[in-house]
Amino acid sequence: MPPVLELAAVTKTYQVKQGIFARPKPLHALGGVSLRINKKDVLGLVGESGCGKSTLAKILLGLEAPTSGQVLVDGREIGARERRLLARRIQPIFQDPYSSLNPRKSIEDIIALPLVVHGVGDSASRAEAVTKMLDLVGLPARLRRGYPNQLSGGQRQRVAIARALIMKPEIVICDEPTSALDVSVQSQILNLLGDLREELGLTYLFISHNLAVVEHLATRVAVMYLGQIVEEAPAAELFAGPRHPYTRALLESVLTPDPSLSLPDTHLGASYPNPISPPSGCRFHPRCAELRDICKTAPPPRVGGEGGHVDCHLYGSSAAH
Ligand code: SF4
Ligand code: MG
Repeated sequence: MPPVLELAAVTKTYQVKQGIFARPKPLHALGGVSLRINKKDVLGLVGESGCGKSTLAKILLGLEAPTSGQVLVDGREIGARERRLLARRIQPIFQDPYSSLNPRKSIEDIIALPLVVHGVGDSASRAEAVTKMLDLVGLPARLRRGYPNQLSGGQRQRVAIARALIMKPEIVICDEPTSALDVSVQSQILNLLGDLREELGLTYLFISHNLAVVEHLATRVAVMYLGQIVEEAPAAELFAGPRHPYTRALLESVLTPDPSLSLPDTHLGASYPNPISPPSGCRFHPRCAELRDICKTAPPPRVGGEGGHVDCHLYGSSAAH
């Protein structure tokens, strides 16, 4: 069976100006990303902010077109014209339940909106679907007439989940779905997403900057750095034996007793590089604790295959010791 969702060598380049009179320069947000998501998998996509995670999500949702490369659904390439079809099968849950819900719409109207947009059902069947969704995400029925500002952060994210699921999608793209929430509420939402996956047989792409959050749900993990996937593995393998030095640094930062310490200051030497002028050789080399001479000039080899890989000079036949 082909993967339900696949990115093949996808690149995305933006032209950005740094200053009014400056010439636009290319920003390579995605530098040839290949990813396969199999049915009922939870692929955790992890990396720091600015690494291209959200760009990748937008491309999968059809909100942006790739500069080159292919998006395949069930092994078939999906072009811009088929976005409408894609939207029924793939739905998003975004980071911020405060800004992703229209404050002037009732909860009922917010949840039913995808049905209205896609012309599914009449008003009676939509109302019935909303009732089911409220129950599914654990919200009391009386909240349907309320408005977003009357809800807590956790309740708003439940509304966003209900809105995503009312289309009965097969795949849900969760982009940092818990990072705007209090820690105590985060685990409730993660548990809900886990339960819904079991109950509805959903496939998730779960995007987060936090490996600990991903560990809750992921069956596979892909680690992204400056627009490239640098390591991918089954979740249990990756957490038991992270191979890429960047993955190791991310894991160490999760184990830091004071979570308020930011990642670059604690475990990674230099700060996150400017994607307009990425470092030569291995893009991670200015921050790598295991840097070799070759890393500064030669891009690292990809070691492994479809089951998982690591892109690093420490591995493979050319391993520099
Ligand atoms: Fe570090 Fe070199 Fe591996 Fe890059 S290729 S992660 S710089 S050891
Ligand atoms: Mg983002």
